[in-house]
Amino acid sequence: MHTDARALEDGTLIEGDLCIVGAGAAGISVALEWVGARRRVLLLESGGFEYDARLQELYRGEIVGLPYYPLQAARLHYFGGTTGHWAGFCATLDPIDFERRDWVPHSGWPFPRAHLDPYYARACRVLELGPYAFDVAEWQRRDPTLVPFSLDPAVAWTKMWQFSPPTRFGTRYRDAIVRSPNVHLYTHATVCEIDANESLTAVDELRVRTLEGKTHRVRARQYVLAASTIQNARLLLASNRRAAAGLGNAHDLVGRYFMEHLEMPSGVLATSGARPPGTAMYAFEFGRTKARGELALAAGVQRERRLLNATVSLTPGGLTEEAKSTFQWATPDVVDGMRARPAGAAGDSAPAGDTAVAPREEPRVFHLLTRQEQAPNPASRVTLSTARDALGVPRARLDWRLTPLDRGSFRAFYAALGREVGRAGVGRVRMREWVLEPPDAPWPASLGGGWHHMGTTRMHDDPTRGVVDAQCRVHGLANLWVAGAAVFPTAGCANPTLTLVALSLRLSDRLREALT
Ligand SMILES: Cc1cc2nc3c(=O)[nH]c(=O)nc-3n(C[C@H](O)[C@H](O)[C@H](O)COP(=O)(O)OP(=O)(O)OC[C@H]3O[C@@H](n4cnc5c(N)ncnc54)[C@H](O)[C@@H]3O)c2cc1C
Repeated sequence: MHTDARALEDGTLIEGDLCIVGAGAAGISVALEWVGARRRVLLLESGGFEYDARLQELYRGEIVGLPYYPLQAARLHYFGGTTGHWAGFCATLDPIDFERRDWVPHSGWPFPRAHLDPYYARACRVLELGPYAFDVAEWQRRDPTLVPFSLDPAVAWTKMWQFSPPTRFGTRYRDAIVRSPNVHLYTHATVCEIDANESLTAVDELRVRTLEGKTHRVRARQYVLAASTIQNARLLLASNRRAAAGLGNAHDLVGRYFMEHLEMPSGVLATSGARPPGTAMYAFEFGRTKARGELALAAGVQRERRLLNATVSLTPGGLTEEAKSTFQWATPDVVDGMRARPAGAAGDSAPAGDTAVAPREEPRVFHLLTRQEQAPNPASRVTLSTARDALGVPRARLDWRLTPLDRGSFRAFYAALGREVGRAGVGRVRMREWVLEPPDAPWPASLGGGWHHMGTTRMHDDPTRGVVDAQCRVHGLANLWVAGAAVFPTAGCANPTLTLVALSLRLSDRLREALT
């Protein structure tokens, strides 16, 4: 069913069993699980079925701290949400991402990776990926011509990615939602406030406004916030009628730990031969499934060197004539300090035992793009601006902050990877200058995120350390849950949507129990 909230009489009371706020990847994933069920599900979407500049403007916010993309451009505000322009890169988080790592403050999920496996398998179907296969050996069994670089698995490994078509939730799932007899989609229904009961133990109702000046009330037994990472925090903070600091914010955690993936061009890999074995692994199609490998460091190396998790994609390219003449070939033991210097230039003498290796054939060059997790940081946060949007809601204010751990991890990652690539005779890695700078150096102008917003309502069983519990229910509020990457305690290096869809399906199972 579908109703345009603008067509309702002002002051309408909408009632159901389950109410989902936001119809993007997370909200639609939850709603699809309820199609045909014996419960009345309300799906409240701020936008309509098409892009509308006036609604998009509601996302405008303030950026302080590190430079970031304009917030009104970083998320889409209509049915289907940001899947209207996501790229579809998908990978699972790694087991180490769920562990408490003593060198990564605030790390650790309340459950191990294995717990998510059945939900990942279901999420692959929602995102129209191939089989739930993210293990390089499994792809090799399917196609023996796929051979990864021969690296020591105790040091480096090939992490598999798959590509969603990409699934545009707004078009792919519109019919399933609109034709459902029990899921009732309300478009142009912007939730502006969450009203809790007097004792602040449960949500009573939601206030919905339209740009045309109508206000409606929505009541349900259970509520799910799925309005995206920044908007979920904004809505909780702005719901401060009874709780002055905002809902779920008794411990000043809502909005904190905002995380991005640091996606930055970081260097090149020049292989030792024109066509070394293994390169097919780094982009291939298997039937309808598009997949590729990326290079990553083994968990043991991350532990030993106290690194953040990262993965690096290989895009075939070439070297400019200038780069060719200045390309510095280094043996494994000097990879760490390798810089672009003309061969034979002053100060270029190799350490004892080091022999510069000149390639016999023109090397095959891959440009390296790193995706590194950002360490959880309470100072990296979303708060409310003093400016308000057209519906009277305070705008979001993003203060994105990074730490020396984030910066230093890049260099250490490439030192370890470069050494292994050289040792194994695969080729040589050259890092960009900024990667070699000390951890407290300013970030280069190329600093960029992957458009991935995570954190702000992090998951932790202890209410003093997390906004939601291990089931994704807001601590202290019996009927309010959060779906989306806002609940991630750490970011891992994989793009977030596969994991957030998996968590949304898991949340649906929990809601089924809550609504019996
Ligand atoms: C350019 C780009 C490329 C990307 N590429 C990838 C990729 O390759 N791989 C990957 O994993 N991820 C990628 N992402 C991120 C991906 O799009 C997000 O992870 C995903 O869409 C988040 O899902 P969500 O449901 O939490 O939020 P959204 O998809 O943004 O959905 C939120 C929904 O809530 C609605 N809403 C917001 N506020 C309210 C309110 N107050 N009341 C009612 N409704 C509201 C919005 O209109 C929207 O429909 C990319 C993002 C961008 C911008």
